[in-house]
Amino acid sequence: MTNDELIAIWKDREAPLLPLLHAVHDRDGHLSEEALRAVSKGLRIPLADLYGTVTFYHHFARTPGGRDAPRVCTGPVCCLHGAEELVDAIDGATPMPCSGRCDEPIPVLRGSDTLVGLAADALEMRASPLPPVVPSDVRAASGHDGGAPECVFASIREPGRATLEGYRATGGYAGLEKAATMSPEAILDVMDASGLAGRGGAGFPTGRKWRAVHDAPDESAGMHHGPLGKTVVCNADEGEPGCFKDRALMDHDPHALLEGMAIACMATGAERAFVYLRYEYPETEGVLERAIAEAEAAGLLGENVLGSGRTVRILIRRGAGAYICGEETSLLNSLEGKHPFPRNRPPYPVTHGYRNTPTAVNNVETLCSVPPILAHGADWYRALGIGDQAGTKVISLSGDVARPGNYEVPLGMSLDTLLNDWAGGGRDGNRIVAVTMAGLSGGFLGGDELDVTLDEPSIRAKGSFLGAGGIMVFDETRDIVDVARRAMEFFAHESCGKCFPCRIGTTRLTERLAGAAGPRDLSAWLDEVHDLGDTMKKTSACGLGQAAPLVVESLLRCFPDAVSRRVTAGGEAAD
Ligand code: SF4
Repeated sequence: MTNDELIAIWKDREAPLLPLLHAVHDRDGHLSEEALRAVSKGLRIPLADLYGTVTFYHHFARTPGGRDAPRVCTGPVCCLHGAEELVDAIDGATPMPCSGRCDEPIPVLRGSDTLVGLAADALEMRASPLPPVVPSDVRAASGHDGGAPECVFASIREPGRATLEGYRATGGYAGLEKAATMSPEAILDVMDASGLAGRGGAGFPTGRKWRAVHDAPDESAGMHHGPLGKTVVCNADEGEPGCFKDRALMDHDPHALLEGMAIACMATGAERAFVYLRYEYPETEGVLERAIAEAEAAGLLGENVLGSGRTVRILIRRGAGAYICGEETSLLNSLEGKHPFPRNRPPYPVTHGYRNTPTAVNNVETLCSVPPILAHGADWYRALGIGDQAGTKVISLSGDVARPGNYEVPLGMSLDTLLNDWAGGGRDGNRIVAVTMAGLSGGFLGGDELDVTLDEPSIRAKGSFLGAGGIMVFDETRDIVDVARRAMEFFAHESCGKCFPCRIGTTRLTERLAGAAGPRDLSAWLDEVHDLGDTMKKTSACGLGQAAPLVVESLLRCFPDAVSRRVTAGGEAAD
């Protein structure tokens, strides 16, 4: 197809820029200057703005063949397995940030194929999740039978669950059938009573968010157009290193996500919904497309859903590789075809989100929790947690642990139980000395801090947070200062650059952790590092710049001697 033909297909559709760029990128293997000029003209985006946006994303190649050049995951866990050596061993390979497969061998992305392996001559194509498989990346707790009851994983291991037939055979769409007979207020009351809070990291109560969207006036009307209507967005841009739960949910239970999104639309009054899917999950896009087609054909999506008179349209938009797009306002800018900087807030997305419409942005796990809550009731969900904690959380466990994978735990369960009873303890019987929380953003917990319970109040009391639920495990054989240095290098790489304390601070902290720059005197080093961290926390505009200093703070709290040795050795000697 020519540029003009592709532009004609996309230009009058919702959120056209990313799919149009992907279509050109897939066709040509890169984005040429000629193609970008055509897109600029066709979508009426100034060429300079378009260049700035395109070059911000990691995965849009600007030179011929670039799309299919191999990219090797050099996330924190893959580096433990030798990812940096693998980059050198594969012809033309370049590193990429964590690609969300920390429970597998090292992933290598080549075009739309994902391979995994530990050596250049031993890479295997990752099996497509369809036809139905019993998922290996969804772990049952040790002694799960009669153990902790689950919510989002309760039926996910059933063969065929990813198909409409299999999903319905295991109770699927019962929640939507109920919601179709309820008023929006009644759905919102159930969500409030359930205590469900955002499972993507922020932990905002889902019922309150949806109610705010439901109650918000739609002020999106342009001068010559009527209101655009409200919007639901599923944030499936799971970019936090060490997090891979959303991929497992989408691959093995795509209809649960669609059902949750349809219920969200009914509760908020939205008719338009997007799944913003991270670039690094190419197979997942096919799984979701197939599920949407099945659901539309069965009258579960589209016009007059289940005879309710309500319309729900779900569109997939694939990102192009940018960690910051996991931040909801960056994601909205990305959807709108703008440079994906985070927006200043207020106004918040619940009143002024996608194209200024009231917008509910929810994480995959949050939305997948909704159908069972509607089907079984708010009290059932609340009771899944321990003590005052409502419900469950999926934890992505990776690194130096015997059985990595995704575990759905009752909120309030102890981390020690998860690590040692459910996941089999340290790799090869080694002693676990530290974990990272919230992927990387929560920094380290170490020593006696590992007795924490898995809920936000307990973890925040230790100076960290649970966030999206990625936990990476490190044993006694690891150079923990180097782990911290890599983490800060990741934040420096992914800082969007909008505010200079984050842009410069993450780079300065990376250098300090490498021991190659800054004072050799420990006291002066600490003064400098604390000053950098305080400035970043006080002046950064979004969570990246505010959370990055936690890595250094927690390292100093848990491993002061290792830091001291690194600083005084000037980076020459490892711990
Ligand atoms: Fe961008 Fe960092 Fe500022 Fe966030 S804190 S807006 S990532 S520069």
